[in-house]
Order: sequence, then C-alpha cells, then structure tokens
Amino acid sequence: MSRSSLIAGNWKMFKTPGEAAEFARLLVAELQVPTDREVVIAPAFPSLTAVAAVLRGSEIALAAQNVHQEPQGAFTGEVAAGMLRDAGCRYVIVGHSERRTYFRETDELINRKLAAALASGLKPILCIGETLTEREQDKTLEVIARQLKEGLKNVAPDDIGSAVVAYEPVWAIGTGRTASPGQAQEVHAFIRDELGGKYGPAVARRLLIIYGGSVNPVNMGKLMAEKDIDGALVGGASLEVASFSQIVNYPEV
Ligand code: PEP
Repeated sequence: MSRSSLIAGNWKMFKTPGEAAEFARLLVAELQVPTDREVVIAPAFPSLTAVAAVLRGSEIALAAQNVHQEPQGAFTGEVAAGMLRDAGCRYVIVGHSERRTYFRETDELINRKLAAALASGLKPILCIGETLTEREQDKTLEVIARQLKEGLKNVAPDDIGSAVVAYEPVWAIGTGRTASPGQAQEVHAFIRDELGGKYGPAVARRLLIIYGGSVNPVNMGKLMAEKDIDGALVGGASLEVASFSQIVNYPEV
C-alpha cells in the first residue's frame, strides 16, 4: 500500500527566534512540497509562536522538540502539551536520544509525554533507536521492541493513528554515519511487525515509520526506496534551505 511520507526538520538548540522566523519565511517561499509529502519543522520553544505566524496558511506544519508530561502545574521551566497546541504545533518529538541520554528520560517518562501529547491533540513523533554498543552486541531488535512497547504503553487503537515512529539509531545521529538502507529497512520492517502484533496488520500498514540519522540529499532517495521507510527526521541537514529542500524533493531511485 502507498503511504504518504513525512519529512521533519529538528532544529535542536539552533536559531534565535528572529533567525528561525526568517528561515521559515525562506522555506515557505522556496520549498516546493510534493503532494504526497508532509513537511514539518521543529524549532526551539522561544521560536514557536513567531514561526507559527510565518507558517500559517502554508503547507509546512510546526512541531515542538519536547513536552512536559503534566497538563499544567508548578513545574518551573517546563512546557505543557496544551500550550504547544495553542502556540500552533501539530506535532511534538518525544524520546529523542539526546533527551534520553542528556536528560535521563526513561521509557516510562517518554510514554507519559506521549500520552500528554495525544490527550491535547498533538501528534507525537516517538523516537527509538539502539546505541552502537547495543548494535554490536546484537541487541538492536530487543532494544527497539522494548522502547516501542514501553513508549506506546496504554495507547489505544483509536489513538495510534495519530502517532509517528522515528527509528533513529543513536550511532547515526549527528555523526555523518547513516544506517544503510538495508539496515534501516530491517528495523523498520520489525517495527511495523511489532505494531501489527499490537494493533493489527491493517493499522500497522497505515502507520508512518520514519528514519533519522545523518540523512542528507545524497542518501535520502535510497533510504526512501525501501518499502517500510516513510520519511525522515532530519537534524543537521534541515538547518539550510538548500539541503532541506533537496531532501524534501528526494529523487525516486
Ligand atoms: C536528529 O537529531 O534527530 C538527527 C537525526 O540528527 P542528524 O540528521 O543531524 O543526524
């Protein structure tokens, strides 16, 4: 079956609000988005409202890079899902490996964040992926199965269609080292199978499973030629209009 694809740019802690809004203006003016693709950008929190204003009425959707698990409360420095929705976000990234590693986010916490996103009408992009050591120890599928099971715990069949899974091998993020299309496809097929076991094969066939890890204009087409790869989560290469635009307009190979 043919699924649409999703290409999301994760700007991490780059670009001030002024720079982010200017960059979004350039993207809106220059990016040609093919009809079968959805494009999402994820600026840092302080840039969300300025970028939302620029994206209004465009084909590009807005995402946040993180969310707090509670709907509101005395959590200094945190941002709730409802606030992100109100600021114009359609998506939110949860479980990025940088958050798992540097901020000690556990599968349990990530699951709560994902539930908070769904409860507020945000579409969560759940990132999962193994470290290099785990891959070398042949634990990739075991790690993926656990992160998927824990991350999607208690997610009802009615809600799963709003979620996107991003397979991001930790060893490929920001390293210039990409998983080969075959390596990525193997894990994507496994993820779809696991989702099929939980939600049924018909639902699993419709879910978007995107790849992240040093995606660039050169490797994107080959990754997208794999049958279970439905798009990309792009870090470094999403920070320039030219490279992001080439990724969005990847050639069929
Ligand atoms: C990411 O941050 O999700 C990512 C995939 O980064 P990069 O494309 O730079 O590897």
